[in-house]
Amino acid sequence: MKNLLLVLFLISIGLQACDSKSEKEASLPIVRIDAVEKGFIYLDGQYTGYSTPADMKVSPGEHVIGVATNESKQYLRKVVTVDQSAEINLSLNDKPEPKVWKALWLGIHEVTGSSVNGRCQSSFSKEELDAGFNFFQWSIRNQFEPFSYNTTKWEVERKDISTPIELHKAGNTWFTLEPESITALLPEVQPGNYDAVFVFWRESDGDCSFKSSYFGLAWTDPMNDPIKTGYVTIKFDAGDDINNNINWYKENDPGVWVHEWLHTVGENYFQDCGVQMPEKGGDGLVLHAAEKYNYTYPWMDWYADFMSGRVKNLVAPNTYCGIGPEAFLKYTVRESALKK
Ligand SMILES: [Zn+2]
Repeated sequence: MKNLLLVLFLISIGLQACDSKSEKEASLPIVRIDAVEKGFIYLDGQYTGYSTPADMKVSPGEHVIGVATNESKQYLRKVVTVDQSAEINLSLNDKPEPKVWKALWLGIHEVTGSSVNGRCQSSFSKEELDAGFNFFQWSIRNQFEPFSYNTTKWEVERKDISTPIELHKAGNTWFTLEPESITALLPEVQPGNYDAVFVFWRESDGDCSFKSSYFGLAWTDPMNDPIKTGYVTIKFDAGDDINNNINWYKENDPGVWVHEWLHTVGENYFQDCGVQMPEKGGDGLVLHAAEKYNYTYPWMDWYADFMSGRVKNLVAPNTYCGIGPEAFLKYTVRESALKK
């Protein structure tokens, strides 16, 4: 009975809010928004569902008008004070300075551990690490930066580690390369220095196999980890020829780097910044909710919409969620790590 009362109460509030909103809306100034190139329109950081050119009712006061361009993948923005109907045109002069995100990419020459066949090691040559690093940079150029509409600019530092690293064995089936193994070798991995660390190592080498039920892993709550940095490991199955395998992924399932990185900022970090993010998926992870929001494998549209704040909300019609260009311009893990 208590629940029923609560429901009725909410409905009456909702109706009142609706009535007063529609009266107010009728008298709002109409703003015509256009840009040098066709694009999606954002109002105060939220995707509006409109594309340029569009006439929109905007409440009087100060607003951030943004346009994410379809072809050149730029975000243009203007702070405007609306008091009457107006036309706002965005040009390339309205492109903000991108926010710098710093990645540390670590190529691991050799991992050791207790496989099912006993102790063994799995190694990458310098050339194989080069191939992995090129794959990562390809993803930065083709996914990370354009999906943020170039509001992020990634500065990537690469280090190769030749000291063999002992894998952590979780239960009987998992092998992981833990952040503690990295910080023991690289004391510079500490709060405020990097937004994310990406570790690349070889899954199997001859008879030595550290195969288990994952390809990439990410730590999902950087601010509550000692390093206060996003942490991703990619356990790569290089097969006979690493370049063939990388090309297969590029053509069929190209999102591994961006997928794992999005776990580091899309599960807790941006939520804690106050950004409205999609709901969790069935396994408790936000990034795995793609199907719930009607996206399909290999999920590239999901990553793009997740990053640009254009995931259609399931319940509230015509509203959208996800990170979005204004949030990318405002926050980095690195800066947050030094504030807390
Ligand atoms: Zn995942």
